[in-house]
Formats: sequence, C-alpha cells, structure tokens
Amino acid sequence: MAAKGLDTIAVHGAGAEERIAGAVVLPVFQSSTYLYSGESSYESLRYIRLNNTPNHRSLHGKIAALEGAEAGLVTASGMAAIAAALVSVLSAGDHLLAQRTLYGGTRELLAHELPSLGIECDFIDPCRPETWAERLRDETRAILVESISNPSIEIGDLPAVVRFARENQLVSLIDNTFATPVNFRPIEHGFDLVLHSCSKYLNGHTDLVAGAVAGRREWIEKINRRLLLLGGCLDPHACFLLERGMKTLVLRVERQNASALRIAEYLDRHPSVARVNYPALPSSGGHRESKALFSGYGGMLSFELEGGADAARLALPRLRIPVEAPSLGGVESLVTRPATTSHSALSPAERGELGIRDGLIRLSVGIESVEDLIADLQQALEAD
Ligand code: PLP
Repeated sequence: MAAKGLDTIAVHGAGAEERIAGAVVLPVFQSSTYLYSGESSYESLRYIRLNNTPNHRSLHGKIAALEGAEAGLVTASGMAAIAAALVSVLSAGDHLLAQRTLYGGTRELLAHELPSLGIECDFIDPCRPETWAERLRDETRAILVESISNPSIEIGDLPAVVRFARENQLVSLIDNTFATPVNFRPIEHGFDLVLHSCSKYLNGHTDLVAGAVAGRREWIEKINRRLLLLGGCLDPHACFLLERGMKTLVLRVERQNASALRIAEYLDRHPSVARVNYPALPSSGGHRESKALFSGYGGMLSFELEGGADAARLALPRLRIPVEAPSLGGVESLVTRPATTSHSALSPAERGELGIRDGLIRLSVGIESVEDLIADLQQALEAD
C-alpha cells in the first residue's frame, strides 16, 4: 500500500487503530493508574503523569506520522514542549542561538529563565545567515527558530538553519505551530526536533492547551524522561479532545490558507492599511525563499494601519466576526494587538527592536465565510 496521505493519518493515525470494546473512536482513559503487570522500568509503569495511557500513545503515533518523524510526544502545553526540549538538549554552561522574533513566552523563557539555569542565548536575524557565525561560541549547542514567526509572520532562511546546524554540530529545533505539518514538514528538510503548541492549529477548536515534540526516537525518549520529572504531562481528556480536533486538521488548514491569502490581498490593496505581513505576498519577509518549501502559508497574518495604534484601537472593537482575544489557530477568527497580549511581557524597547509596534494587529483567520470576513474588515476599516 502507498504511504498514507496526511488527511488519512489525521483521521486514522499511521498504524492499526485499537478498537477497544469495538469502539470506533478511542475512548477517554480517565484512570490515573493501571494494574502492575511486571513492568521493569519506571517509564513503563502505567500512570497518567508518565504520559503513556492509550490516549497518549495514540497521539504520539499520530503526531510523529504527521511530521514524518520517528517518534512523537504530547505535553501539557506548547511552553512545556519548548521548555522540556530545551532543557533536555542543553545543560548549564551551554549556549543557544535563537530567532529574534519568537512567540513572546518563548522569548521570555530564553532571555530571562534559562540564564538562571546557566544556559545563555543570543538572538539572530533568521533571514541573514551571513551574520550567524559572529554569534557562535565554543559552548553553542543548539539553534531554535519558528517556521513562520509570531507575530511578524516572517519565514527565515530555513535550509540555511539546517546547514548551519550541521556544519557546527548544533541540534536544530523548530516551532512549527503556525505552519503545521500540512504546510511545512521540517523533519523532511533536515531539522532535528519539531515543537508545537497544539493549543492552536493541531487542536483547532480553542478549547484546550497542549504541546508536542517530534523527532528521532532517542531524543524523544530523553525529552520524555525529563518531562515526566518536571510534571508536564497532558491530561487524558485533553488528549481525547486534541485527537478529535486533529481529525479535521487538513481540511481546516487548507481552508485557512485560502481565506488568509484572500484577506491578505484585500488588506494589501486597502488605502487605510500601511503594511501587511503574509508570506504569500511578494512584499513579505521570506516570500521568495519559502516558495519551494511551503505548500501554503496558514491562517495567520499581521498588519498595520496608516493611523497606527490609535486607528487599531478604534478598528478592533468594530469587528463583529473575529473575536478580540489572544491565541490563534481555531475555527473562529481571533484578532489581537500582540503588544497588549502575546508580547506584552517584553519591554517596549524589546518590542521596538523586533518591529512589534503598538499598532500591529494580528489576525488568526478561522473557517467562517471569507466573504463575510472581508465585509466585516471593510466596515471596521471604513466606519467614520
Ligand atoms: N509557540 C507559538 C508559536 C505560540 O504562538 C505559542 C502560544 O501562543 C506557544 C508556542 C506556546 O503555546 P501554549 O500556549 O500552548 O503553551
């Protein structure tokens, strides 16, 4: 049989499905502990914190298959995935290179938390590989990027990241939350570890928080051992909801790719809009480099109005369909100003350096009718 398509994997997983008591859908295993049956290692005992109920195991296989990885792991949140992966790859005394425009929580972790564990980080411009070597130290062990960055919606030179990591024996990590494996599969392009906030597109329904890591089995086992001790496992009911959400991943993302493109083109032509960030637009960062790598650019775009922050403050409450709320990747459109939400922990100076102006609006395009969304944006932008 030919290799399964991503849409088939999203529904059924990569291997044979367990039909427990004949159930078509894997039920929730809401039991914290299980009969001891001679397990010989701590990790193989069956207990929810050990991340190994049938609900966890099913998701591990599905995430690995979607990302084309040897193994996968679910975690209590996207931040749990990022933190557990980084503290497994790095030890006290090590140094990390990371993309400068990252999700605010990740940036905060790297800039303010990891140094207290003796792990230092330097930030790099992901689009300028010629500048990376200057930041390299003897202690540099890893490089972290986002496939599409939050909130600048920029794509760095991803093949150069893989080459640079190989030339300098670094572990390459990529947060693939915005792109999803539907649009970009980092393992196929040579990345070592793929990270996700499953709270976003993988679940797609804005009703849970979860994370995931995928990569080579030996790495995933090492990260899992750390995660179990740090306590970052996912609850089985959240596993169940996540697996249900993932069944429609491909359908949702394809729709969001198409709608976001139309909205980006509409905004790009609108006289009140100063700038639109969406990698399908020739004016956006990473447009040329990413064309051969990505099969779509997802549902996230950001833009600035001619009237800056004041105009944004007026326009957002006028929107009737997108809900003004942080987070992203769900079936409903969400809109936010990152300076007040996802990146509010950064100082105004840090945000300024990253180009996150107070007026920057981030739109997560849902699966509503694109005509309705465009009409809604129009009335919000053109109201007196
Ligand atoms: N990575 C990216 C790109 C994100 O946007 C977020 C959250 O917004 C995270 C990681 C953190 O995910 P979580 O909120 O599930 O911990």
